[in-house]
Amino acid sequence: MHTIGILALQGAFLEHGQMLEGLGVEHFEIRQSDDLNRPMDGLILPGGESTAMGKLMDCLDMLQPLRERIAGGLPVFGTCAGMILLAKDLGDEPRRFLQTMDIRVLRNAYGRQLGSFFTRSTFAGMEDVPMTFIRAPYIEQVTAPDVEVLATVDGHIVAARQRNMLATSFHPELNDDPRIHRWFIEHLIEKPE
Ligand code: GLN
Repeated sequence: MHTIGILALQGAFLEHGQMLEGLGVEHFEIRQSDDLNRPMDGLILPGGESTAMGKLMDCLDMLQPLRERIAGGLPVFGTCAGMILLAKDLGDEPRRFLQTMDIRVLRNAYGRQLGSFFTRSTFAGMEDVPMTFIRAPYIEQVTAPDVEVLATVDGHIVAARQRNMLATSFHPELNDDPRIHRWFIEHLIEKPE
């Protein structure tokens, strides 16, 4: 039985919990740095507003412990703002957050106002996966050879994996399709390659 911690400072953390509920996976919310001491097999960084989440993580002294846990191999799944938190390179953005994943991410890549849309595409060979984008980032470039591109939409990289880290531009927790969460559990938690 796995237990997954969900960063619950801001954003769409409840929906990830509901998704894990549906999969019968135990989970708990991470609201303060003490919560990071609870045993967990995986971590979810939800979508929301990366600057707000980053500030809160900073104030709550969570940035460094989280960075260390992820660098130490804790499986992590970042959606949307969660992808921004993981990225080492954010181009012209003034702030950086956890900086564990070798990707260059463009924030609000589809524009701030009209940047929300829904599509279906292929993810790691799974077809017709629903993808909800909300003022989403995308990966402009992968910056290490071990980053595997898992999905593209209109020529842009919208999902990638590097070792114990999975990041999607879209919000799989907002659609009624558990395949991506299940993929995270199967590939990064149960049989990490
Ligand atoms: N635009 C947000 C940011 O820059 C991300 C949006 C989202 O997570 N849905 O942090």
